[in-house]
Amino acid sequence: MMMIDTSDLTKTYNGRGGCRGITLQVPEGCIFGLLGPNGAGKSTFVKMLAGLHRPDSGRATILGQPLGKPEARRRLGYLPELFRFQDWLTPEEVLRFHGQLGGLRPRETRASAFRSRVRDILELVGLSEAADRRVGGFSKGMQQRLGLAAALLLDPELVILDEPASALDPVGRYEIRRLLKRLRDKGVTIFLNTHLLEDVEELCDEAAFLYEGELLASGPLHKLLSDSGPGDSAANWRFKLGGWLTDTWSELNAIVDGALFSTLRLVEADESGNALLTAHVTDREQAGYLSSLFIWSGLTLYESGPESNSLEAWFLQMAGSRQGGAK
Ligand code: ADP
Repeated sequence: MMMIDTSDLTKTYNGRGGCRGITLQVPEGCIFGLLGPNGAGKSTFVKMLAGLHRPDSGRATILGQPLGKPEARRRLGYLPELFRFQDWLTPEEVLRFHGQLGGLRPRETRASAFRSRVRDILELVGLSEAADRRVGGFSKGMQQRLGLAAALLLDPELVILDEPASALDPVGRYEIRRLLKRLRDKGVTIFLNTHLLEDVEELCDEAAFLYEGELLASGPLHKLLSDSGPGDSAANWRFKLGGWLTDTWSELNAIVDGALFSTLRLVEADESGNALLTAHVTDREQAGYLSSLFIWSGLTLYESGPESNSLEAWFLQMAGSRQGGAK
């Protein structure tokens, strides 16, 4: 079953902005990333899915049910982009309130089973230590963790997260990524609205790209990247190297003699001997030849791969092609 299935879904604000004609499928059990620059229409799209905006036109189901059906809403967890909890509440009180919004009776949210669920979920998002503190003193990152706890509270089958890591530091992001992977392993489908490309690169099985309200591409991430990438033909290749010394550059250039690999480019080198090189290669064999050349020269090869296959390059290419086309 498709967990999210939309056809020609449109919502504008008095005919402007929003998103238009979005046809998108999210399969069960995957992490799906919705990408796009600010103002692309990502939040508008997820607000329709969460039942906060009524579409102008088009059709959509979530969990096999038309938008807004209470049966689907109960199986859906949603973390909005901008939210603020009441300052005077504790995390437990916030979650009790969310339990009631999700259909639990007040009596059920005071029962020991629910309280133990609250403790578990606070532990899961890394807020155990702050369980008795008032939300008013929480940092943005802590608020975001609590928002995630609220979205996950009732064991949803589908979780829609609008920028879940935007206020988190690198450690927090790492923890949330790990948590999302664990959820996927348990069979939960996750729809992630984000502009953090490294999150998408590491987490997502599938992705879609929105630009100025329109869907430009969607599908399995590896396919999107390989469709836009160089495949086996000419490409810019990246090499991450170790053991770099000041005179390595001139020695390398002497070896390649500036002819065959005339586009060898040193992107950066730091004091600990790490360096990043790019080279224009005509095929994979030439990249392999360069790799062995680096190793033969005494360098350590940490990583090598086609440059334009990175998500960032894809993102820029998608946005650039659209801008170019609009001119
Ligand atoms: P994203 O989440 O990708 O940043 P949004 O869905 O928030 O994009 O916004 C898409 C477009 O719709 C933007 O041009 C934005 O200005 C416009 N927009 C969003 N919300 C509103 C609103 N409540 N009223 C008017 N315009 C809006």
